[in-house]
Amino acid sequence: MIVDDRLMGLRVDAERFRRDFEALSEIGATGDGGVHRPALGEAHLAAREWLRDRIVAAGLEFRVDSAGNHSAVLRCGPQEAPRLLLGSHLDSVPHGGRYDGALGVLAALEALRVVSAAGVSLSVNLEAIDFTDEEGTLVGLLGSAALAGILQEAALREPRGGRVVLEEGLARAGLTEAGLFQAARDPASLAAYLELHIEQGRRLVDAGVTIGVVTSIAGINSYRLDFVGEPNHAGTTGMEDRRDAALGAASFALAAREVVMDGFPDCVANVGDMRFAPGAFNIVPGRVELALEFRAQDRDSFEHLERALLRRAEEEARRFGLGLEVEWLGKCEPTPTSIIAQRAVADAAASLGLSHVALPTGAGHDAQSLAGICPIGMVFVPSVDGASHSPREFTRWEDCVSGANVLLQAALRMAQQVGAGAAG
Ligand SMILES: [Zn+2]
Repeated sequence: MIVDDRLMGLRVDAERFRRDFEALSEIGATGDGGVHRPALGEAHLAAREWLRDRIVAAGLEFRVDSAGNHSAVLRCGPQEAPRLLLGSHLDSVPHGGRYDGALGVLAALEALRVVSAAGVSLSVNLEAIDFTDEEGTLVGLLGSAALAGILQEAALREPRGGRVVLEEGLARAGLTEAGLFQAARDPASLAAYLELHIEQGRRLVDAGVTIGVVTSIAGINSYRLDFVGEPNHAGTTGMEDRRDAALGAASFALAAREVVMDGFPDCVANVGDMRFAPGAFNIVPGRVELALEFRAQDRDSFEHLERALLRRAEEEARRFGLGLEVEWLGKCEPTPTSIIAQRAVADAAASLGLSHVALPTGAGHDAQSLAGICPIGMVFVPSVDGASHSPREFTRWEDCVSGANVLLQAALRMAQQVGAGAAG
């Protein structure tokens, strides 16, 4: 990819970027280096107000859609040209870190400021976007799914965070459920989506590499498995006479690990919760409700792993004389990023003299929602100790700046590709 010299020379303003990052980190600060900004809570809305002020102060056009997604728009291309979206999210998990999401939104804003100040024309228009509820306080990937037109009614009926939290959040932000479904954009209006994010793992740090070129985003599938036995007196029921649901659930938790490690080395599985019923010292557990989640980078392993885990759950239930009830809770398919975007990110890193490596990610991101309607790409920067969703989250500032410059340069390359594609 060849980009003209003027564009090649553009860099983010590291000091301005840092001042913004520090100011934003104060909103919802928890005092231990972290932030608490659950989606559409007071602190999150305050962060969005702050962002709007920064957008206006930068002389950019401010936009908010009916899903609450906040944007800065820079009309640097022809009137009808598609938008190249750059962004991430300002919400956090409860008691989370400063970098997850916030870094990507501020880097996107900074990229628009730099292009605006340079006064250059591109073949696309630019938009820096802050998506609503990426983290799943309410639904998860809510704003991006709404924008992509893939939000499901069912996701709102039984949201992760519960109906009350969703209703209160929407009301607080002045949003409505009907409005969420009106935020869908015409795919023809979008050129691509690029996101800068912290890695949230330790591969970049361990390898001593500055930039991760994300190749795919893991598919996530979740099930509730109920191991069903028979509650009975814990003192008078002989060991051989028990139908103990705890044994099936516990042995499945160990078996799930074995299934993955033996047959699916690139996948992960998690038993995140077990609820015992009736749940008392002196009663043999009659039922255990188990939360199973597993992730894979490609559809083939995703499907094979699903079958292997469910088969194993049946075997473990049978082994202890138990019944098994299976409830599927939904999935996101594994999502490869666009090859053009991967090239743009790798070329941008190389042009900046930064070490880079291709890698998949196990975490969910808004980019997944958009993959069906436009090319997507992601840039990762190292997470010290791999810490994330924690106040311990930390990325060296020079890496943050490098990531922002890669985002900017990758966006300029993508803009050219899209323009070339449109012309040819
Ligand atoms: Zn994030």
